[in-house]
Amino acid sequence: MIYKRSSALFAEAQHVIPGGVNSPVRAFKAVGGDPVFVKEAKGAYLYDEDGNRLIDYINSWGPMILGHAYQPVVDAVVEKAQKGTSFGMPTEIETKIAELAVKMVPGIDKIRFVNSGTEACMSAVRLARGFTKRDKIIKFAGCYHGHSDSFLIQAGSGAVTFGSPNSPGVTQGTAKDTLLAEYNNLEQVKEIFEANTDEIATVILEPVAGNMGCILPAEGFLEGLRELCDAHGALLIFDEVMTGFRLAPGGVQELMNVRADIVTFGKVIGGGLPVGAFAARNEIMDYLAPVGPVYQAGTLSGNPLAMAAGLAMLTTLDNDKKIFNRLSEKTEYLHKGIAEALNKHNVVHTINRLGSMISVHFAAEPVTDFASASKGANETFKKFFHGLLNEGVYIAPSAYETWFITDALSYEDLDTTIAAVAKVAPDLKEK
Ligand code: PMP
Repeated sequence: MIYKRSSALFAEAQHVIPGGVNSPVRAFKAVGGDPVFVKEAKGAYLYDEDGNRLIDYINSWGPMILGHAYQPVVDAVVEKAQKGTSFGMPTEIETKIAELAVKMVPGIDKIRFVNSGTEACMSAVRLARGFTKRDKIIKFAGCYHGHSDSFLIQAGSGAVTFGSPNSPGVTQGTAKDTLLAEYNNLEQVKEIFEANTDEIATVILEPVAGNMGCILPAEGFLEGLRELCDAHGALLIFDEVMTGFRLAPGGVQELMNVRADIVTFGKVIGGGLPVGAFAARNEIMDYLAPVGPVYQAGTLSGNPLAMAAGLAMLTTLDNDKKIFNRLSEKTEYLHKGIAEALNKHNVVHTINRLGSMISVHFAAEPVTDFASASKGANETFKKFFHGLLNEGVYIAPSAYETWFITDALSYEDLDTTIAAVAKVAPDLKEK
Protein backbone atom coordinates (compact mmCIF):
# COMPACT_ATOMS: atom_id res chain seq x y z
CA MET A 1 0.00 0.00 0.00
CA ILE A 2 1.11 3.56 -0.63
CA TYR A 3 1.39 6.07 2.20
CA LYS A 4 2.73 9.12 0.34
CA ARG A 5 0.26 11.69 1.53
CA SER A 6 0.47 10.41 5.13
CA SER A 7 4.25 10.88 5.01
CA ALA A 8 3.88 14.41 3.61
CA LEU A 9 1.36 15.31 6.31
CA PHE A 10 3.63 13.85 8.97
CA ALA A 11 6.56 15.96 7.73
CA GLU A 12 4.37 19.08 7.91
CA ALA A 13 3.04 18.18 11.37
CA GLN A 14 6.54 17.83 12.80
CA HIS A 15 7.18 21.55 12.25
CA VAL A 16 4.45 22.59 14.63
CA ILE A 17 3.66 19.60 16.86
CA PRO A 18 6.38 17.82 18.91
CA GLY A 19 7.18 14.64 16.98
CA GLY A 20 4.20 15.41 14.75
CA VAL A 21 1.75 13.78 17.16
CA ASN A 22 -0.35 14.68 20.19
CA SER A 23 0.34 11.38 21.96
CA PRO A 24 3.75 9.67 21.60
CA VAL A 25 2.84 6.09 20.68
CA ARG A 26 1.10 7.32 17.52
CA ALA A 27 4.46 8.23 15.99
CA PHE A 28 5.57 4.67 15.00
CA LYS A 29 8.87 5.23 16.81
CA ALA A 30 8.93 1.65 18.08
CA VAL A 31 8.32 0.09 14.69
CA GLY A 32 9.95 2.62 12.36
CA GLY A 33 8.41 4.40 9.38
CA ASP A 34 5.86 7.19 9.22
CA PRO A 35 2.47 7.06 10.92
CA VAL A 36 -0.71 6.71 8.89
CA PHE A 37 -2.91 9.82 8.82
CA VAL A 38 -6.59 8.99 9.06
CA LYS A 39 -9.18 10.78 7.00
CA GLU A 40 -12.28 9.04 8.25
CA ALA A 41 -13.53 5.77 9.69
CA LYS A 42 -16.70 3.73 9.58
CA GLY A 43 -17.47 0.41 11.24
CA ALA A 44 -14.42 -1.84 11.25
CA TYR A 45 -12.43 0.28 8.82
CA LEU A 46 -10.12 3.26 8.75
CA TYR A 47 -9.77 5.24 5.51
CA ASP A 48 -6.45 7.03 5.34
CA GLU A 49 -5.29 10.13 3.50
CA ASP A 50 -3.88 8.03 0.64
CA GLY A 51 -7.20 6.32 0.01
CA ASN A 52 -6.23 3.00 1.67
CA ARG A 53 -8.79 1.02 3.62
CA LEU A 54 -7.41 -0.58 6.79
CA ILE A 55 -9.04 -3.10 9.12
CA ASP A 56 -8.69 -1.42 12.50
CA TYR A 57 -7.59 -3.34 15.61
CA ILE A 58 -6.73 -0.26 17.66
CA ASN A 59 -10.10 1.43 17.61
CA SER A 60 -8.88 4.66 19.13
CA TRP A 61 -7.09 2.54 21.78
CA GLY A 62 -10.32 1.07 23.03
CA PRO A 63 -13.36 3.33 22.94
CA MET A 64 -14.91 2.17 19.66
CA ILE A 65 -16.15 -1.20 20.91
CA LEU A 66 -19.06 -1.07 18.43
CA GLY A 67 -16.97 0.19 15.53
CA HIS A 68 -16.35 3.67 14.17
CA ALA A 69 -19.08 6.25 13.65
CA TYR A 70 -21.64 4.01 15.37
CA GLN A 71 -24.89 5.62 14.28
CA PRO A 72 -26.71 6.06 17.63
CA VAL A 73 -23.60 7.76 19.06
CA VAL A 74 -23.21 10.02 16.03
CA ASP A 75 -26.90 10.97 16.12
CA ALA A 76 -26.77 11.74 19.84
CA VAL A 77 -23.74 14.00 19.44
CA VAL A 78 -25.10 15.84 16.40
CA GLU A 79 -28.41 16.49 18.11
CA LYS A 80 -26.72 17.82 21.26
CA ALA A 81 -24.25 19.99 19.35
CA GLN A 82 -27.13 22.00 17.89
CA LYS A 83 -28.12 23.02 21.40
CA GLY A 84 -24.81 24.32 22.73
CA THR A 85 -21.54 22.51 23.28
CA SER A 86 -20.65 23.46 26.85
CA PHE A 87 -22.25 25.31 29.72
CA GLY A 88 -20.20 24.68 32.84
CA MET A 89 -23.58 24.16 34.56
CA PRO A 90 -25.40 21.01 35.60
CA THR A 91 -27.42 19.19 32.92
CA GLU A 92 -29.92 16.34 33.18
CA ILE A 93 -27.95 14.05 30.88
CA GLU A 94 -25.11 13.88 33.45
CA THR A 95 -27.51 12.28 35.93
CA LYS A 96 -28.89 9.94 33.26
CA ILE A 97 -25.48 8.48 32.37
CA ALA A 98 -24.46 8.38 36.04
CA GLU A 99 -27.63 6.40 36.89
CA LEU A 100 -26.94 3.95 34.09
CA ALA A 101 -23.27 3.49 35.04
CA VAL A 102 -24.19 2.95 38.70
CA LYS A 103 -26.75 0.34 37.62
CA MET A 104 -24.30 -1.49 35.35
CA VAL A 105 -21.21 -1.54 37.58
CA PRO A 106 -21.25 -3.52 40.84
CA GLY A 107 -20.44 -1.92 44.16
CA ILE A 108 -20.63 1.76 43.21
CA ASP A 109 -23.11 4.36 44.48
CA LYS A 110 -21.78 7.52 42.86
CA ILE A 111 -19.63 8.44 39.88
CA ARG A 112 -17.79 11.64 38.95
CA PHE A 113 -17.06 12.43 35.29
CA VAL A 114 -13.78 13.90 34.08
CA ASN A 115 -12.17 14.28 30.65
CA SER A 116 -9.64 11.44 30.38
CA GLY A 117 -8.45 8.21 31.93
CA THR A 118 -5.43 10.07 33.28
CA GLU A 119 -7.63 12.49 35.18
CA ALA A 120 -9.77 9.65 36.48
CA CYS A 121 -6.81 7.73 37.93
CA MET A 122 -5.09 10.83 39.26
CA SER A 123 -8.28 11.88 41.04
CA ALA A 124 -8.96 8.37 42.34
CA VAL A 125 -5.54 8.27 43.99
CA ARG A 126 -6.01 11.71 45.53
CA LEU A 127 -9.37 10.58 46.87
CA ALA A 128 -7.82 7.40 48.30
CA ARG A 129 -5.07 9.42 49.95
CA GLY A 130 -7.56 11.91 51.38
CA PHE A 131 -9.83 9.14 52.63
CA THR A 132 -7.10 7.06 54.29
CA LYS A 133 -4.93 10.04 55.30
CA ARG A 134 -1.89 8.18 53.97
CA ASP A 135 0.57 9.08 51.19
CA LYS A 136 2.05 5.97 49.59
CA ILE A 137 0.63 3.97 46.73
CA ILE A 138 1.51 0.59 45.28
CA LYS A 139 1.49 0.25 41.52
CA PHE A 140 2.60 -2.60 39.28
CA ALA A 141 5.40 -2.54 36.72
CA GLY A 142 3.88 -2.44 33.25
CA CYS A 143 0.50 -1.08 34.34
CA TYR A 144 -0.37 2.26 32.80
CA HIS A 145 -2.68 4.66 34.57
CA GLY A 146 -2.18 7.75 32.45
CA HIS A 147 0.59 10.33 32.46
CA SER A 148 0.05 11.89 35.86
CA ASP A 149 3.34 12.20 37.81
CA SER A 150 2.72 9.47 40.39
CA PHE A 151 2.17 6.88 37.67
CA LEU A 152 5.16 7.46 35.43
CA ILE A 153 7.16 4.92 37.33
CA GLN A 154 7.60 1.85 35.17
CA ALA A 155 4.43 2.49 33.25
CA GLY A 156 3.63 0.22 30.35
CA SER A 157 2.51 1.24 26.89
CA GLY A 158 4.10 4.36 25.36
CA ALA A 159 6.26 5.03 28.40
CA VAL A 160 7.96 1.68 27.84
CA THR A 161 8.10 1.93 24.10
CA PHE A 162 9.98 5.18 24.45
CA GLY A 163 12.38 3.92 27.05
CA SER A 164 11.47 6.60 29.56
CA PRO A 165 9.94 4.62 32.39
CA ASN A 166 10.88 7.36 34.80
CA SER A 167 10.16 10.55 32.92
CA PRO A 168 12.24 13.65 33.60
CA GLY A 169 9.98 16.22 35.21
CA VAL A 170 8.65 13.78 37.80
CA THR A 171 10.18 14.87 41.10
CA GLN A 172 11.97 12.52 43.47
CA GLY A 173 9.47 13.62 46.10
CA THR A 174 6.60 12.29 44.02
CA ALA A 175 8.40 9.15 42.89
CA LYS A 176 9.25 8.09 46.44
CA ASP A 177 5.56 7.68 47.28
CA THR A 178 4.99 5.23 44.43
CA LEU A 179 6.07 1.75 45.45
CA LEU A 180 6.49 -0.78 42.67
CA ALA A 181 5.53 -4.42 42.56
CA GLU A 182 5.56 -7.08 39.87
CA TYR A 183 2.19 -7.92 38.35
CA ASN A 184 0.86 -11.24 39.65
CA ASN A 185 3.34 -11.28 42.53
CA LEU A 186 1.16 -11.28 45.62
CA GLU A 187 4.01 -12.16 47.97
CA GLN A 188 5.85 -9.02 46.98
CA VAL A 189 2.82 -6.83 47.66
CA LYS A 190 2.55 -8.45 51.08
CA GLU A 191 6.19 -7.60 51.80
CA ILE A 192 5.69 -3.99 50.71
CA PHE A 193 2.69 -3.67 53.01
CA GLU A 194 4.67 -5.12 55.91
CA ALA A 195 7.60 -2.78 55.31
CA ASN A 196 5.31 0.26 55.18
CA THR A 197 2.86 -0.29 58.02
CA ASP A 198 -0.01 2.22 58.07
CA GLU A 199 1.52 4.17 55.18
CA ILE A 200 -0.12 2.66 52.08
CA ALA A 201 -3.19 4.57 50.94
CA THR A 202 -4.00 2.42 47.97
CA VAL A 203 -3.07 -0.36 45.59
CA ILE A 204 -3.88 0.59 42.01
CA LEU A 205 -3.84 -1.85 39.11
CA GLU A 206 -5.33 -2.82 35.80
CA PRO A 207 -7.31 -5.89 36.99
CA VAL A 208 -6.72 -7.32 33.53
CA ALA A 209 -3.65 -5.57 32.19
CA GLY A 210 -3.69 -4.16 28.69
CA ASN A 211 -0.62 -1.95 28.56
CA MET A 212 2.08 -4.62 28.41
CA GLY A 213 0.04 -6.58 25.93
CA CYS A 214 -2.94 -8.33 27.46
CA ILE A 215 -2.03 -10.00 30.75
CA LEU A 216 -4.51 -11.86 32.89
CA PRO A 217 -4.47 -11.83 36.68
CA ALA A 218 -3.24 -15.19 38.02
CA GLU A 219 -5.77 -17.20 39.98
CA GLY A 220 -6.22 -15.65 43.41
CA PHE A 221 -4.22 -12.50 42.60
CA LEU A 222 -7.12 -10.04 42.69
CA GLU A 223 -8.68 -11.78 45.70
CA GLY A 224 -5.31 -11.69 47.46
CA LEU A 225 -4.96 -7.96 46.83
CA ARG A 226 -8.49 -7.44 48.19
CA GLU A 227 -7.54 -9.28 51.38
CA LEU A 228 -4.25 -7.44 51.82
CA CYS A 229 -5.93 -4.06 51.36
CA ASP A 230 -8.60 -4.98 53.92
CA ALA A 231 -6.02 -6.27 56.39
CA HIS A 232 -3.95 -3.08 56.12
CA GLY A 233 -6.70 -0.45 55.83
CA ALA A 234 -5.79 0.51 52.26
CA LEU A 235 -8.18 1.08 49.37
CA LEU A 236 -8.07 -1.08 46.25
CA ILE A 237 -8.38 0.83 42.96
CA PHE A 238 -9.26 -1.06 39.81
CA ASP A 239 -8.22 0.95 36.79
CA GLU A 240 -10.91 -0.18 34.37
CA VAL A 241 -10.20 2.55 31.83
CA MET A 242 -9.55 -0.19 29.29
CA THR A 243 -11.63 -3.07 30.67
CA GLY A 244 -14.69 -1.16 31.91
CA PHE A 245 -17.84 -1.76 29.82
CA ARG A 246 -15.62 -3.95 27.62
CA LEU A 247 -14.95 -7.29 29.31
CA ALA A 248 -18.46 -7.32 30.80
CA PRO A 249 -21.18 -4.68 31.29
CA GLY A 250 -19.88 -4.25 34.85
CA GLY A 251 -16.20 -4.70 33.95
CA VAL A 252 -13.70 -6.99 35.67
CA GLN A 253 -15.45 -6.59 39.01
CA GLU A 254 -18.45 -8.37 37.51
CA LEU A 255 -16.48 -10.82 35.38
CA MET A 256 -14.18 -12.02 38.15
CA ASN A 257 -16.42 -11.27 41.09
CA VAL A 258 -13.89 -9.24 43.08
CA ARG A 259 -14.83 -5.80 44.41
CA ALA A 260 -12.59 -2.75 44.32
CA ASP A 261 -13.09 0.31 46.52
CA ILE A 262 -12.66 2.81 43.71
CA VAL A 263 -13.03 2.06 40.00
CA THR A 264 -11.78 4.29 37.19
CA PHE A 265 -13.15 4.47 33.67
CA GLY A 266 -12.31 6.00 30.31
CA LYS A 267 -12.44 4.95 26.67
CA VAL A 268 -15.77 3.03 26.14
CA ILE A 269 -17.64 5.18 28.69
CA GLY A 270 -17.21 8.21 26.42
CA GLY A 271 -18.19 6.52 23.17
CA GLY A 272 -15.12 8.07 21.51
CA LEU A 273 -15.40 11.53 23.06
CA PRO A 274 -13.00 12.69 25.80
CA VAL A 275 -14.46 11.17 28.95
CA GLY A 276 -13.07 9.56 32.08
CA ALA A 277 -14.80 8.79 35.36
CA PHE A 278 -14.18 7.42 38.82
CA ALA A 279 -16.68 5.79 41.09
CA ALA A 280 -17.03 4.26 44.55
CA ARG A 281 -19.50 3.67 47.35
CA ASN A 282 -21.06 6.70 49.09
CA GLU A 283 -18.72 6.71 52.08
CA ILE A 284 -15.75 7.31 49.76
CA MET A 285 -17.36 9.50 47.10
CA ASP A 286 -18.76 11.85 49.73
CA TYR A 287 -15.17 12.75 50.58
CA LEU A 288 -15.10 14.72 47.32
CA ALA A 289 -15.73 18.47 47.00
CA PRO A 290 -18.21 20.08 47.28
CA VAL A 291 -19.47 17.61 49.92
CA GLY A 292 -16.11 16.61 51.34
CA PRO A 293 -12.59 17.99 51.61
CA VAL A 294 -10.83 16.35 48.61
CA TYR A 295 -10.71 18.84 45.75
CA GLN A 296 -11.35 17.84 42.15
CA ALA A 297 -12.89 19.89 39.33
CA GLY A 298 -13.14 20.47 35.55
CA THR A 299 -14.37 23.23 33.22
CA LEU A 300 -15.47 20.72 30.59
CA SER A 301 -16.29 17.80 32.91
CA GLY A 302 -19.71 16.32 32.14
CA ASN A 303 -19.63 18.05 28.76
CA PRO A 304 -22.99 17.57 27.00
CA LEU A 305 -21.57 16.15 23.75
CA ALA A 306 -19.39 13.71 25.65
CA MET A 307 -22.25 12.67 27.93
CA ALA A 308 -24.56 12.18 24.93
CA ALA A 309 -21.99 9.95 23.22
CA GLY A 310 -21.35 8.00 26.41
CA LEU A 311 -25.03 7.56 27.19
CA ALA A 312 -25.77 6.27 23.68
CA MET A 313 -22.86 3.82 23.98
CA LEU A 314 -23.70 2.51 27.44
CA THR A 315 -27.40 2.24 26.57
CA THR A 316 -26.57 0.00 23.62
CA LEU A 317 -24.28 -2.18 25.75
CA ASP A 318 -26.85 -2.39 28.53
CA ASN A 319 -29.67 -3.34 26.15
CA ASP A 320 -27.82 -6.02 24.21
CA LYS A 321 -25.61 -8.09 26.49
CA LYS A 322 -25.06 -10.58 23.65
CA ILE A 323 -22.56 -8.09 22.26
CA PHE A 324 -20.06 -9.31 24.86
CA ASN A 325 -20.46 -12.95 23.80
CA ARG A 326 -20.11 -12.03 20.15
CA LEU A 327 -16.92 -10.12 20.91
CA SER A 328 -15.43 -13.07 22.80
CA GLU A 329 -16.31 -15.48 20.00
CA LYS A 330 -14.72 -13.27 17.37
CA THR A 331 -11.59 -12.90 19.48
CA GLU A 332 -11.34 -16.65 19.98
CA TYR A 333 -11.74 -17.21 16.24
CA LEU A 334 -8.98 -14.71 15.52
CA HIS A 335 -6.75 -16.28 18.16
CA LYS A 336 -7.09 -19.73 16.60
CA GLY A 337 -6.52 -18.43 13.07
CA ILE A 338 -3.42 -16.43 13.99
CA ALA A 339 -1.95 -19.27 16.06
CA GLU A 340 -2.45 -21.71 13.21
CA ALA A 341 -0.83 -19.38 10.67
CA LEU A 342 2.18 -18.71 12.92
CA ASN A 343 2.58 -22.36 13.95
CA LYS A 344 2.63 -23.45 10.32
CA HIS A 345 5.84 -21.46 9.89
CA ASN A 346 7.27 -22.29 13.30
CA VAL A 347 7.11 -18.71 14.52
CA VAL A 348 7.71 -18.69 18.28
CA HIS A 349 4.84 -16.85 19.89
CA THR A 350 2.44 -16.58 22.82
CA ILE A 351 -1.08 -15.24 22.49
CA ASN A 352 -2.94 -13.82 25.48
CA ARG A 353 -6.65 -13.17 25.30
CA LEU A 354 -9.69 -12.31 27.36
CA GLY A 355 -13.05 -11.15 26.00
CA SER A 356 -12.35 -8.64 23.25
CA MET A 357 -8.71 -8.05 24.22
CA ILE A 358 -5.91 -10.03 22.58
CA SER A 359 -2.15 -9.64 22.18
CA VAL A 360 0.45 -11.52 20.19
CA HIS A 361 3.88 -11.77 21.84
CA PHE A 362 6.88 -13.16 20.00
CA ALA A 363 8.05 -14.90 23.14
CA ALA A 364 8.33 -18.61 23.92
CA GLU A 365 7.45 -18.45 27.62
CA PRO A 366 4.07 -17.49 29.10
CA VAL A 367 3.63 -13.73 29.35
CA THR A 368 2.41 -13.00 32.89
CA ASP A 369 4.10 -9.77 33.92
CA PHE A 370 6.20 -6.92 32.61
CA ALA A 371 9.48 -8.87 32.68
CA SER A 372 8.08 -11.71 30.57
CA ALA A 373 6.35 -9.24 28.21
CA SER A 374 9.72 -7.55 27.68
CA LYS A 375 11.25 -10.80 26.45
CA GLY A 376 9.25 -10.62 23.22
CA ALA A 377 11.33 -10.32 20.05
CA ASN A 378 11.03 -6.71 18.98
CA GLU A 379 12.53 -7.13 15.51
CA THR A 380 9.99 -9.85 14.78
CA PHE A 381 7.21 -7.58 15.97
CA LYS A 382 8.39 -4.80 13.65
CA LYS A 383 8.26 -7.14 10.67
CA PHE A 384 4.87 -8.41 11.77
CA PHE A 385 3.49 -4.89 12.16
CA HIS A 386 4.71 -3.61 8.79
CA GLY A 387 3.76 -6.83 7.03
CA LEU A 388 0.19 -6.53 8.32
CA LEU A 389 0.01 -2.83 7.53
CA ASN A 390 1.04 -3.59 3.98
CA GLU A 391 -1.86 -6.05 3.80
CA GLY A 392 -4.31 -3.42 5.09
CA VAL A 393 -4.47 -4.60 8.71
CA TYR A 394 -3.77 -1.96 11.33
CA ILE A 395 -2.55 -3.11 14.75
CA ALA A 396 -0.96 -0.95 17.43
CA PRO A 397 2.57 0.18 16.54
CA SER A 398 4.13 -1.30 19.67
CA ALA A 399 4.65 -4.80 21.02
CA TYR A 400 3.29 -3.68 24.39
CA GLU A 401 -0.24 -2.99 23.21
CA THR A 402 -3.45 -4.96 23.15
CA TRP A 403 -5.62 -5.39 20.06
CA PHE A 404 -9.27 -4.45 20.51
CA ILE A 405 -11.95 -6.45 18.77
CA THR A 406 -15.10 -4.56 17.83
CA ASP A 407 -18.62 -5.69 17.12
CA ALA A 408 -18.28 -4.13 13.66
CA LEU A 409 -15.70 -6.72 12.57
CA SER A 410 -17.21 -9.39 10.32
CA TYR A 411 -15.91 -12.95 10.07
CA GLU A 412 -14.79 -12.01 6.58
CA ASP A 413 -12.64 -9.24 8.12
CA LEU A 414 -11.21 -11.77 10.57
CA ASP A 415 -10.43 -14.18 7.72
CA THR A 416 -8.74 -11.37 5.80
CA THR A 417 -6.66 -10.66 8.90
CA ILE A 418 -5.72 -14.32 9.35
CA ALA A 419 -4.78 -14.52 5.66
CA ALA A 420 -2.57 -11.46 6.14
CA VAL A 421 -0.84 -13.12 9.10
CA ALA A 422 -0.33 -16.27 7.00
CA LYS A 423 1.26 -14.16 4.26
CA VAL A 424 3.59 -12.38 6.68
CA ALA A 425 4.48 -15.46 8.77
CA PRO A 426 7.22 -16.91 6.50
CA ASP A 427 9.22 -13.67 6.95
CA LEU A 428 9.13 -13.84 10.72
CA LYS A 429 11.88 -15.39 12.79
CA GLU A 430 12.10 -19.16 12.62
CA LYS A 431 12.24 -21.41 15.65
N1 PMP B 1 -5.54 3.66 32.45
C1 PMP B 1 -5.48 2.70 31.52
C2 PMP B 1 -5.63 1.27 31.92
C3 PMP B 1 -5.27 3.04 30.18
O1 PMP B 1 -5.20 2.08 29.26
C4 PMP B 1 -5.15 4.41 29.83
C5 PMP B 1 -4.96 4.84 28.39
N2 PMP B 1 -4.38 3.96 27.55
C6 PMP B 1 -5.22 5.37 30.84
C7 PMP B 1 -5.43 4.95 32.14
C8 PMP B 1 -5.11 6.81 30.53
O2 PMP B 1 -6.22 7.27 29.84
P1 PMP B 1 -6.13 8.58 28.92
O3 PMP B 1 -5.20 8.27 27.80
O4 PMP B 1 -7.55 8.79 28.49
O5 PMP B 1 -5.64 9.68 29.77
